[in-house]
Amino acid sequence: MAQSQSTKGESTDSCGPKVQTLTILGSTGSIGTSTLDVVARHPELFNVFALTGSNKVDLMYEQCVRFKPAYALMVQEDAAKKLEQLLKPTGLKTQVLTGAKALDDLAAHPNVDTVMAAIVGAAGLSSCLAAARAGKRLLLANKEALVVGGELFLTQVRNGGAKLLPIDSEHSAIFQSLPQDASTWSSTVEKIILTASGGPFKSRDPKTLHLVSPQEACRHPNWVMGQKISVDSATMMNKCLEVIEAHYLFGLAPNKIEVVIHPQSIVHSMVEYKDTSVVAQLGTPDMRVPIAYGLGWPYRIASGAQSLQFQNVPAMTFEDFDSNEHRERFPGLLLAWQVLEARPGMTGVLNAANEVAVQAFLGGKIGFTQIHEVNLRTLDLYEPTAPHSLEDLLELDSRARLTAEQVISAFD
Ligand code: NAD
Ligand code: MG
Repeated sequence: MAQSQSTKGESTDSCGPKVQTLTILGSTGSIGTSTLDVVARHPELFNVFALTGSNKVDLMYEQCVRFKPAYALMVQEDAAKKLEQLLKPTGLKTQVLTGAKALDDLAAHPNVDTVMAAIVGAAGLSSCLAAARAGKRLLLANKEALVVGGELFLTQVRNGGAKLLPIDSEHSAIFQSLPQDASTWSSTVEKIILTASGGPFKSRDPKTLHLVSPQEACRHPNWVMGQKISVDSATMMNKCLEVIEAHYLFGLAPNKIEVVIHPQSIVHSMVEYKDTSVVAQLGTPDMRVPIAYGLGWPYRIASGAQSLQFQNVPAMTFEDFDSNEHRERFPGLLLAWQVLEARPGMTGVLNAANEVAVQAFLGGKIGFTQIHEVNLRTLDLYEPTAPHSLEDLLELDSRARLTAEQVISAFD
């Protein structure tokens, strides 16, 4: 991991975790609320400095009353106004903000030690980069930001002296299974193996997938998550994004990253070493575990998750994702290796297309299997030049979105 490599072995004092001041980007989402759940278990360790959300005013109001942040930001202006009205009679000193620039400022604020990046999609890229440039401890749930940002993201982390810690459960599992000394990784690691539950359609007849409704796609068997990642899990585009995320985080060639289907979601991912030893991280499927690991690192703090009762664990099974049947069911997963080997910028194009396609599916404009068609056609139509700046990345993202929208219009 470009940056965690240097931070994993960082020396620490023996007194345990230090007090941290936090900004939580996307506090009203699934990861955001789980983060606050862990934070609430350790009032002596965490001060909440800023919370941000898009439009869920009532939830943000409750979070403000409970955690008393200095700042609360709503992306939507009318939501910010409503929050201000709600907070007035409480006497709380929380200042309400709105706008993209303020979001970046809260991520980079000098009073902040740690930023939880839990916005969904490329919308979180700019604030992630702001936190990276400002040298924050950056807990990354927002995988799309790294998929879009790629090498540029890592350069900003390195140059800013930030600490990048993975929150995605698979990447946290790999980070936990790697040795402290990151300089040994390239000579000792044979490959990493990401586990995938297979989502709600693991056993569904692929010929019937075009009939899937948004409600069915969002019903994940093991995890409760936001809508976008739930649809991505159903198509396995989530795993596709995670292969790309792992490539950047751990500095491994795409052919050193494998995926195995493990429907029980107990083994969260594994590292195989040169001598064929495999080290894995196991636990109940609860995002509070990787969140607590990131918040507490390099120490361990209570997460609130249930411990694994091995005598009650269902038989664990592992399947090849690359069988003919799964290839037909989950055609999007293989795109990870293809875009990583293609020209720089293609990971961002794929992410943009997928975000547009998922929204179109959730909005009833396209069918479930058309998500993959949109992704493929957008990639085919697109020839990106290598992005060199945030502006290049954002421009690439918006042009690829436009292309994806044109592809969707052509379906009618
Ligand atoms: P969610 O939809 O539940 O929450 C998203 C948050 O981002 C909300 O607070 C929302 O208000 C905010 N947001 C949405 N659009 C925004 C915009 N344009 N600008 C600023 N803020 C905006 O999503 P989630 O499931 O919590 O996922 C968040 C990120 O974490 C995603 O990148 C996802 O892939 C990743 N992740 C989630 C899980 C999980 O279990 N939910 C697991 C691993 C990784
Ligand atoms: Mg994951």
